Amino acid sequence: MVTLDEAKIRRLPRPEGVGVQRLLDGVVRGFILLVVVTVVVLNRVNESGNHNVDSIGADPLALLVTDSALHQNERQPMASPVAAQAIKPSRPVRRGEDNAHVPVPEAPRLSAAELAAFKPNELGYVPVLMYHAFTTDPEHLDDWTTNPERFRDDLQWLADHDFFIISLDDLLTNEIAVPPGKHPVVLTFDDASSGQFRLLEDATGQLAPDPATAVGVMEAFFATHPDIGRGGHFAFVPNNCFHHDAEVTTCEERLAWLAGHGYEIGNHTWYHQNLGEADDERFMSQIGDTKLWIDERVPGDANLSNVLTLPFGAFPATEWQYHMLVNGFDWEGQRIQLAAVLTVGGGPSVSPDSAMWDPWAITRINTGEATLGYWQAQIETGATTLYTSDGNPTVTTIPEALPEDLAAQFDPSVIAGKGRSLVGYNAEPADETTGLHQGDMAALVRSWTSARRKRASRVRPSKVPRPRAGNVR
Ligand SMILES: [Zn+2]
Repeated sequence: MVTLDEAKIRRLPRPEGVGVQRLLDGVVRGFILLVVVTVVVLNRVNESGNHNVDSIGADPLALLVTDSALHQNERQPMASPVAAQAIKPSRPVRRGEDNAHVPVPEAPRLSAAELAAFKPNELGYVPVLMYHAFTTDPEHLDDWTTNPERFRDDLQWLADHDFFIISLDDLLTNEIAVPPGKHPVVLTFDDASSGQFRLLEDATGQLAPDPATAVGVMEAFFATHPDIGRGGHFAFVPNNCFHHDAEVTTCEERLAWLAGHGYEIGNHTWYHQNLGEADDERFMSQIGDTKLWIDERVPGDANLSNVLTLPFGAFPATEWQYHMLVNGFDWEGQRIQLAAVLTVGGGPSVSPDSAMWDPWAITRINTGEATLGYWQAQIETGATTLYTSDGNPTVTTIPEALPEDLAAQFDPSVIAGKGRSLVGYNAEPADETTGLHQGDMAALVRSWTSARRKRASRVRPSKVPRPRAGNVR
């Protein structure tokens, strides 16, 4: 289950107050940041010469820790320059687990040499790849249909570009456990169509995935590429359940196999209902029945019945339905509370540490040849900056020099508010004329403040109903 904690869900913006709330947030954060900038500047004025760590302790942003260790004298000790002043992050609390006050041992931080080698940037984008139909018929390839060969090529491209496959749950809960230097990626499969998964009996009578299906391709690839992680999120339509005409398993057996092999089952409504065209009763039944049905059949971490993938990419048409989407509703005597919504298309997802992170509109990349090719080129040329892991799921590490789009998404109070430690490091050489490192943390905070001000002035009064995704399926 996705375990966004209840307090977090309660904090989520109500549809009617989004604009004003964000504006107020901006003003308050702007003030806090002014204080921080002042502290940073005073710090730099007061300290002379060698300061390897800027630690801002006694202020509302106590988790902000910066690390300029890359430019230290070589004779300085290299190991964990920030560890001594590290502030313990609180571990995200899983629902039903009373661990809020259990001290968590500090995971090892990267040394200066490791920072230079891995170049972590946990504010970068996370591709969430979106697959639909799989066919073995070469005549039927289109934007929404791929085949085993092309899918294998996609996985090989991910392997060749240092990606690491994580679950959707890990992205949503910001528990991204990826080796340092690797880029997280999520694989999603919509509609539970027959080409995605089929179990066949092998010679010994054991059930194994058909190698010509998406799951069969993944299992073969994961077996030969142990460094790529594993996982896949199935936006599930109970009415389909991967059904083939000649079927040797029940729907329950197929779900049990997926759950037992690290895959996730999410909510894509009962009949692939266009939520932009549903009355309230149908809206509730299509989401609620699917959630309750999955809850009866899919145990533990595999159950993401509270994550809705929008059929046809269509958000609900009425303000009331959008309210129910975010705040929940009662159905069949049970409370239906969603935790996140996946859109159709929209490009790579922002980082869960981004100020623009919105669990109610997680964007994805369609994998039709043209669209995927476009994003692959963006990534290969560096036009899109990927999330690069520091290997520590509870620490957010970012370079002090960020491209403009990411600098505009940087908000230390958002990161601190999630109970995470923030580590900045300077990967750029010092400017000879000023002696300052390019984009040091104070400059970054200043640019964030001004970007935030610009953004706040552009906030529209209400975002309800949500804009529809451009391309729909
Ligand atoms: Zn669909």
